[in-house]
Amino acid sequence: PSVPELESPQHHDVAALLPEPSGESDKYRRGVVGVVAGSARYPGAALLAVAGALRGGAGAVRYVGHAAEAVVARFPETLVHAGPPAKAGRVQAWAVGPGLGEDRDAVREVLASGVPVLVDADGLRLLDAGDVTRRTAPTLLTPHAGEAAALLGVAREEVESARLAAVRELAARYGATVLLKGSTTLIAEPDGRIPVRVDPMGTPWLATAGSGDVLSGLAGSLLAAGLSPYDAATAAAYLHGLAARIAAAEGVPITSSEVARALPAAWHDVR
Ligand code: AMP
Ligand code: MG
Repeated sequence: PSVPELESPQHHDVAALLPEPSGESDKYRRGVVGVVAGSARYPGAALLAVAGALRGGAGAVRYVGHAAEAVVARFPETLVHAGPPAKAGRVQAWAVGPGLGEDRDAVREVLASGVPVLVDADGLRLLDAGDVTRRTAPTLLTPHAGEAAALLGVAREEVESARLAAVRELAARYGATVLLKGSTTLIAEPDGRIPVRVDPMGTPWLATAGSGDVLSGLAGSLLAAGLSPYDAATAAAYLHGLAARIAAAEGVPITSSEVARALPAAWHDVR
């Protein structure tokens, strides 16, 4: 009877979650994250997701999609692949969805893999529920209220007025960890006995185009580095909010690129 319904992490809790390389590390052992994002219409989402993934502690970022040229021009450290995800080479986790457009096959392929998968944005719209519930490796869904409402088949207002119930219901129904974005970010596990985590670090400065894409890459990178979806979501939301606070320190509007660039300072602050 003493398990709390909610919990909220602090600096030292997040510090304990963050991956750290050791003498035995190499880039593969640190984890390779595959980012499947971007389309002709939304090439920038690919760049922002990769920017987040490069600062999430994985040893390498593999980008798969239509923005490969732009990604490698901006981030030469990225491994890029223009074909389907299944042919891209090994990864320890996938982040799929930001700006993806209509590439349903990519979502299906990634969900058919045996590694942890984060699904966001267009990926949430394109996914087939059965492709998630039949997975054996863990899944992390990162909807905002509108995306959560579509997944639940209810109106957006219904999610907004009962966010805790919505995040729990989604996690139970999909058998996945769910990070519900918004003015407060909530993280639920499919096992309803596990406390819902409430991120304390969010800031309204994050309400800017592309910030969710940075979060997807960052959380995917933490998954590849070996964190559970529950912990990867927790650490990513916290670092993302802290980076936005650092970037907006003077009370000035920030861009999502600036949030990504402030992630190292957020890590430093947490450590
Ligand atoms: P997306 O909706 O995918 O672009 O993601 C937006 C990001 O900004 C998520 O991390 C949200 O949790 C965050 N966010 C949006 N609005 C707010 C707000 N009013 N307060 C705090 N965080 C917010
Ligand atoms: Mg989004």
